[in-house]
Parts: sequence; structure tokens; C-alpha cells
Amino acid sequence: MTNIVVLGSTNMDLVAYVPRAPERGETVTGREFRTTPGGKGANQAVAAARAGGDVVMIGAVGTDVFGPRLRAALESAGVETDLLHTTEGPSGTAHIVVDDAGDNAIVVIPGANGTLTALGPGEDTAIAAADTLLLQLELPLSVVVAGAAAARAHGVRTVLTPSPVRPLPPELLSCVDLLVPNQHEAEALTGHADPRAAADELLRLVPEVVITLGAAGSLHASRTTPPLTVPAPKVTAVDTTGAGDTFVGTLAVAVGEGRPVTEALAWASTAAALCVQKPGAAASMPYRQEIEAAS
Ligand code: ADP
Repeated sequence: MTNIVVLGSTNMDLVAYVPRAPERGETVTGREFRTTPGGKGANQAVAAARAGGDVVMIGAVGTDVFGPRLRAALESAGVETDLLHTTEGPSGTAHIVVDDAGDNAIVVIPGANGTLTALGPGEDTAIAAADTLLLQLELPLSVVVAGAAAARAHGVRTVLTPSPVRPLPPELLSCVDLLVPNQHEAEALTGHADPRAAADELLRLVPEVVITLGAAGSLHASRTTPPLTVPAPKVTAVDTTGAGDTFVGTLAVAVGEGRPVTEALAWASTAAALCVQKPGAAASMPYRQEIEAAS
């Protein structure tokens, strides 16, 4: 089994399902509202655990009503939560609008996630014991950098999802082994709308890149292998929330198990395609048997 540590966010997703998203200043009537546990960190942790990884979550929940639900959701997916802190105040929340096309728009309020600014006791040790560290940008940058530096010091592979996108400082980039932006993030980081051009630019910063392209699949590029485009299975998307996190969590498990990169990417694409066919983020993430059955 592959050992994965996720240093990342837990948010309660407050999801409004609407025929179409409102324009600025406009009010629309939605048809349904759901609260579901999410956060990019927790989503990647659940995806990796369901795909068969041994997963430890480092993060924080609040003392509000959402805190215990967020912790329980991770535990029920089999994620180890001893390093998930409870801090005074609200949990992180994500306010999500999902439209009939399955597209989404999201506001994230960090809450407890914002209190994590440095690694705590035991966290360096946990990272040292991992095969892979999964990072995103929903925690303060200082702790993301500290986690990446700890991983580098212990020879642990670091995978960064640069979301929400922001400029990436050299001290972080120098510790990243694999960067996994979506197409918008890749464009924001490089100025290139064309994924090939964006990948070339990103390879100046990190040794390996996967740009996810929604229904168009993904593009893998590294300093040592030719670019590779992986198509996504043709499916009807009902909610793409969590697709990228499913992709990354599953990819980390496959790579950690020593699968060749083409097979790992195909596996991650299959898992993400299963995720988009159901509503919700973590709730719609597939289990290992489902990924195997659909592969
Ligand atoms: P994010 O969820 O971060 O915005 P993407 O939209 O690029 O990222 O989706 C991540 C991955 O999920 C894609 O590379 C693809 O494998 C899968 N995916 C997303 N949307 C679809 C879709 N409509 N059909 C099939 N697979 C999809």
C-alpha cells in the first residue's frame, strides 16, 4: 500500500444547484441546497483513500457545527485524522454554485484552515514516513512551503495542485516534483492559453507537469519524456466539483504503487470521469473496485 500525507484544507461545501449561475447583481432561483464535506485537501485525501492509499490528513477544523462532520467524513473514508487539529472559531466553508451544464463557481472562506501557519509536533515525522505529500493552496502559504521543504528534506515526492491559483514562490517550486494545474490555473501561471505552451513554460519551474483539461482529458509533460495527451472517457457530467481532486488523489495512489505514468494517468481519468457523473465532491468519488471495473 502507498503512504500518502495530505497537508491541506477541510471545508464544508454549501452547494446551490441552479439552472444557470447568476450574473453580477442578479438573483436566480435555485432548485436544491446541500451541505457536503469538502475542501481541496480533504477531497484529495478521500479520493486517495478510496483508491486504496494509506492516507494521513494534516489540517484544521473549527469548533462550529461543521467541525465534527468534517472530521467524521474523513474518518469514514478511512483517513487518519490524529493530525487534524480543532481550532477555536469557524471551519472553512466553500460556497458553490453548480449549474445545469455541470459547471461550477466557488467562493472559499478559510476559517480554521487559515490558522495553520507552520508545521506542528509530529507533522514532520508524518511527512517523513510518506511516499507522497499532496499539497494545494487553500492553507496559508507559509505552512505549504514548510510542508514541501520537509518532504524534500526526507526525499518524499511532492505533488502540488496550484489552486486557488497565485504566484508560486521559488522556495516552494524548488521542492515540487509534480505540478497539477487545470487549464485555467496553467494559463494564470504562464500567460499561455495553449496547454502545450503552458506545459513547456512550467517545466522550467518543476520537473513534471500534468495539466487537466476537463472533458478534453489531460496533458502530461516532463523534462525527460515527450508530451502525452490522455483523453477523458466520454460521459455525461452532472457535477464537476471535485474532479481535479479525484484525479490527483487517484494519480498519487497509482504512481505510489509503481504503475507506469500512462497507466496511472488513465486510472486517474477513469476515476475523475466516475466522479463527474454524480453530484457532490467527496461523496461522488469512486472506490478502488469501481475504478478497476470501469478501467
Ligand atoms: P478541476 O476540477 O480542477 O477544474 P478539470 O475540470 O480539468 O479540473 O478536471 C479534472 C479531470 O477530471 C480532467 O482531466 C478529466 O480527467 C476529468 N473530467 C473533468 N470533466 C470531465 C468530463 N466532463 N468528462 C470526463 N472527465 C472529466
